[in-house]
Amino acid sequence: MTAKKSTRQFKAEISQLLEIITHSIYTNREIFLRELVSNASDALDKLRFLQSSGAALADPDAPLEIRLSPDKDARTLTITDTGIGMTREELVENIGTIAHSGSAEFMRRAAEQGGAGADSIIGRFGVGFYSVFMVADEVRITTRSADPAAAPVRWTSSGTGSYTIEDLDADAPRGTSIEISLKEDTADFADPDRLREIIRAHSNFIGFPILLAGERVNTTPALWREPKFQIKKEQYDEFYSFLTYDSKPPLEHLHVAVDAPVQFTGLLFIPDAPSGSFFEDPDNYGLDLYVRRVLIDRRHKELIPQYLGFLRGLVDTEDLPLNLSRETLQENLLVGKIRQTLTKQALAMLAKLAEDQERYATFWRHHGKVLKLGYSDYAHRDQFAALLRFNASTHDDASGLTSLADYKARAKDGQTAIYYISGPSREAVRLNPHLEIFTQRGIEVLYCFEPADEFILDSLGTFDGMTLTPAEKADPADLERFPAQDADAPKDSPEADPADPEAFEAMLAAAKDTLGERVKDVRASRRLKDSPACLVSPDGAMSSQMEKYLRIMTKDTTPPLKVMELNRDHPLVRNLLRIHKNDGADAFFRTSVEQLYESALLLDGYLADPHALVARVNKLLEQASGWYAEIKRL
Ligand code: ADP
Repeated sequence: MTAKKSTRQFKAEISQLLEIITHSIYTNREIFLRELVSNASDALDKLRFLQSSGAALADPDAPLEIRLSPDKDARTLTITDTGIGMTREELVENIGTIAHSGSAEFMRRAAEQGGAGADSIIGRFGVGFYSVFMVADEVRITTRSADPAAAPVRWTSSGTGSYTIEDLDADAPRGTSIEISLKEDTADFADPDRLREIIRAHSNFIGFPILLAGERVNTTPALWREPKFQIKKEQYDEFYSFLTYDSKPPLEHLHVAVDAPVQFTGLLFIPDAPSGSFFEDPDNYGLDLYVRRVLIDRRHKELIPQYLGFLRGLVDTEDLPLNLSRETLQENLLVGKIRQTLTKQALAMLAKLAEDQERYATFWRHHGKVLKLGYSDYAHRDQFAALLRFNASTHDDASGLTSLADYKARAKDGQTAIYYISGPSREAVRLNPHLEIFTQRGIEVLYCFEPADEFILDSLGTFDGMTLTPAEKADPADLERFPAQDADAPKDSPEADPADPEAFEAMLAAAKDTLGERVKDVRASRRLKDSPACLVSPDGAMSSQMEKYLRIMTKDTTPPLKVMELNRDHPLVRNLLRIHKNDGADAFFRTSVEQLYESALLLDGYLADPHALVARVNKLLEQASGWYAEIKRL
């Protein structure tokens, strides 16, 4: 038999990939070893599967293992496995084409970021076998398929444009041997100490022995495969820091072992650090997916819903095939079932964590924003609602947090709603006129500082029999059933209750007439205590904040149609009543009504152009200072 030797060109996309790989500068070239070891482990897994199916194999008694053979003098590193090997056709198919999505993803990202990003991209995704060209001048693959009829083959390439492939006459042991001639500046990968360190960092949990100078390097077992009761907290912490490189131990861990409907183990952690980067890159979340201890995909998104995206960790299952592409994984029903189970368990873990108020507050500060995205998970609505926390009027400062259940427990006898109010900060919310009646009646109000809060409460609708109601939409009659708290609550003084209700009604009508189509109505307020006026949404309309977000999205800048309410007990309004009673056409009255309306718009964030308001204020001040000077006889 003569050895067929031929030289072939790489497919264009591989040449392109190799071009990037060979010409980038890397800080973590070491991951090439993780990729090759993981391929070797894959090949061993496939072999084990064949073995169990009883097929006839080449070298049936060879031990299943991976060997690293560095040679400092020759500046080579050889990685040998006794796995399934490859036939000539397989070799061409697997190594000569770009079948796996890891490389496709790499190419896309590399194109987006230019060469500069290649380092971090390779670090994050790996590019499989080709990453070897970060460190290699030349690579020789010698492989012999487990199929006893197949002949050994050799593949050689320097990673530039072409490769050669030849059949070998001599016999070769089953499996694959990858001999790397290291580049001059990567000679340290022939150093056993360095190799040991890399294997421990990246390939510690490979299920087959990785041998170096006759010694097994991967001695740490896959923690998640061990019975929970045998694992100490330190081991979990150590594993977490291995997984995330976080210096702080995790806030909490969740170790799941499930047999039905899917067999899998999961080891999940809540980092004790803000998930700040989540919102910069909200698609970068997920759990590492292992199939029989072999890493299939890092941060696989289908394993947890996005709102649990703060979780770090891994899932290992026996029930998925090894060589699944990312695309088929997405549609995989088993993966969906794993997600369901993990979601339930993670929510239960959070409920348990919530029993420790202080630790839960830490969790909420770190990850609350991400968790809030769960309002759309209707299947877990109740568990989700129980995990929400809000700052509220009962707290001393913005750091206080309450759950909806605690609010309910504190609610007044007969109170059937949980009230909430929105604003950018505690200071802003506390100046909101709509809060006044609640303060007066001692009714707690939840503060919503984030746009999402109102969507969440609105979409929940109710909590444990209480309706969730925006403060501005509360019916004052409902609130007046509760006695006023403070001593200086408005008495029904003759002034407060205008002796002449008809005159007050006439003034309201004149105010409406002044504002015209800009307001739906002008009416007396029962909710105001310290402010002269406020705007409320007409009955049935959506709440102000909600409306505001929609308007931002549609870029609508016209003020919305509101009802203006006037506080009949406020001195300013009482003065206006006197002025209007005296002369229904008084210009000062009309200017003041305009001013009250625009001030309310300004407070609610609707005033697009302040020029008219400022001009009017100046005019009013001009008049007021004139009168002041006159009174003082200056
Ligand atoms: P990936 O491992 O992501 O599929 P690689 O480029 O690393 O991509 O490898 C491509 C294919 O080559 C593998 O899917 C596998 O079929 C084959 N292969 C790589 N290394 C080995 C090996 N040591 N033994 C057997 N087959 C291998």
